[in-house]
Amino acid sequence: MDWDAIRRKYTEDAHSIDKARKIHAAVTEKVRRLEIPLADTPLSPRGVIAALPYDLLAEVLREVWTELMGGEPGVDLEKALRAFAADEPFPEEQHDALEELPVFLRPAVTGYLTRLREKNEGHQEAGTGTGSCPFCGTYPRMAFDSETSRELACLLCGKQWRFQRIGCPFCGNADHETLGYFDVEGVEGVRVQYCSECKHYLKVFDTRKRTVRDAETEDVLSLDLDTAAQEEGYL
Ligand SMILES: [Zn+2]
Ligand SMILES: [Zn+2]
Repeated sequence: MDWDAIRRKYTEDAHSIDKARKIHAAVTEKVRRLEIPLADTPLSPRGVIAALPYDLLAEVLREVWTELMGGEPGVDLEKALRAFAADEPFPEEQHDALEELPVFLRPAVTGYLTRLREKNEGHQEAGTGTGSCPFCGTYPRMAFDSETSRELACLLCGKQWRFQRIGCPFCGNADHETLGYFDVEGVEGVRVQYCSECKHYLKVFDTRKRTVRDAETEDVLSLDLDTAAQEEGYL
């Protein structure tokens, strides 16, 4: 994560960014110490998210939470982690009190999954052939275009893989009549690709027009596009 770039972009949020940076570093450091298993049968992208050691990760988060926030988190961290990893909503009554919760959850899930992928790379079933992540099955939110190709990026496990340039990774639609793009003023070298068939969108970064940092950083730097896409009714 390029925290300095994020801080430069959102100067008015400097205080919460510094806090997020601290939490991210502490969670990442503890997750790094967890032992990562080498699977004895090839991992299937369909089962990876469900099989994460949520109890262990929750324990790690509880420790960091107590250290940094003082006191107990007051939420079921294991449940919160499961909801986050599966991209499902977390119960509302727990949500309100805890603005920081996603800041804790994200590095726990991404840190573990990235290391699991690195350790088991080459020891997994072939991908589904659709647009979902060949390692963990999550749908991508971002793509990186170069002169000759497009790569999709998974924000949970860090995997990047080739995909056709004209196509929706969510539903497979490849009809240019129902796929389109728009950009947002002030954010250079990134466009939103939207699909009128399934109503999903993808942020497409043009590596010829933009100095691209890591996917996590670019995701944060381009939040204006998410807002714009969601305002247009895309998911
Ligand atoms: Zn993935
Ligand atoms: Zn679609």
